[in-house]
Amino acid sequence: MTKLFIEDLPLKNKRVLVRVDFNVPLDQNRCVTDPTRIEATLPTIRYILQQGGMPILMSHLGRPKGAYSPELSLAPCVRVLASSLNKVVMMAPDCIGEEVEDLVESMQSGSILLLENLRFHRAEKYPAEAPEFAKKLASYADFYVNDAFGSSHRDHSSVTAVPKLFPGKAAAGYLLMKEISYLDKLLKNPKRPFYALIGGAKVSSKIGVLESLAEKADCLLIGGGMCYTFLKARGIPIGRSLCEDDQLDIAKKIMAKAKKIIFPIDFKVVEEFSEDAPSKVTTIEEGIPPNYQGVDLGPRSIELFCDTISQAGSILWNGPVGVFEFEPFAEGTLAIARALGSIHAESVVGGGDSIAALKKFGMEKNISHISTGGGATLEYLEKGTLVGIEALSEKSPL
Ligand code: AMP
Repeated sequence: MTKLFIEDLPLKNKRVLVRVDFNVPLDQNRCVTDPTRIEATLPTIRYILQQGGMPILMSHLGRPKGAYSPELSLAPCVRVLASSLNKVVMMAPDCIGEEVEDLVESMQSGSILLLENLRFHRAEKYPAEAPEFAKKLASYADFYVNDAFGSSHRDHSSVTAVPKLFPGKAAAGYLLMKEISYLDKLLKNPKRPFYALIGGAKVSSKIGVLESLAEKADCLLIGGGMCYTFLKARGIPIGRSLCEDDQLDIAKKIMAKAKKIIFPIDFKVVEEFSEDAPSKVTTIEEGIPPNYQGVDLGPRSIELFCDTISQAGSILWNGPVGVFEFEPFAEGTLAIARALGSIHAESVVGGGDSIAALKKFGMEKNISHISTGGGATLEYLEKGTLVGIEALSEKSPL
């Protein structure tokens, strides 16, 4: 990458504003239920501390709509951070304002400060409306580091406007670099054959990535709700399955472009969309009857998908292949997770649902790379960059 890297910065005694992605799940008691995103940024935070720098961490959490909302405070993350680092972590009452300035001023080598949820200010999501918000944040530090891969596709103040206020001093952190290097490998030099398994509800939300992968992957495997739009475009009866009629032409275009596509060859179908609805299996030759809808892969499709996965040199997986929230329709998604966890290929998994399925089987340790960003992963695979990466400083030529 041509962008500045954290190791290029002289951090001793410097304040470093780090955009992290602590958008973590919380339970009713406001305890962090999955600390993966916090743990993923520890190498960057530790590096800054080792170099004698002072990390000022900033993140969003949830969708507070531009106003303070106690249940979306980042305070629960302080407990996780402090115990992971075995250090005191200061929590700011806001992300801008006099009290924050005082805390920043009080920092010494080894101090860590976490700013309060950026999205308590409308200006975070709408940088053009209030450029002084980005200026205020930038005024706290000597350097800027982006370690929030999962947010780097968003044109928000802390992601795009703030780094531009650090000319020659805005760098990528370890997590951002790691995510990019795995995705770049898939895009530019994948171990062949490279397969991409894309599921999820809608074609429309993944058009860009499907078009890009159609050319790059040796085979696209398409499952989940989105496969029915493709099957309809091929003239196969899909009953009442999920379908986006306005995407039929796009689906045809992707099928024409792809080197090879594998669709399900049988389906678990139901008459009524509920967890305890009786289901049956129909084949692609029969088509889906008029009153039924597809909710999961059938047994032959599970075999076909898993066999194909076992032959991959590298594989990308994004999106469930069925309505996996309902246990009776989770079979396909769980079988994919198990298959992926038991092969030796380079495997990259993105998207919360796919990761949840892997975790259910304890298979996540067998995956080469679990991305911390769903939307960001898809956008990077489509465009080969993200707005948050573009906003970083160029490495100066030697
Ligand atoms: P996405 O966010 O696009 O990856 O979509 C994830 C959602 O797709 C999950 O909530 C699944 O329940 C849903 N999904 C997967 N397969 C189907 C299907 N056959 N019919 C309806 N929804 C599905």
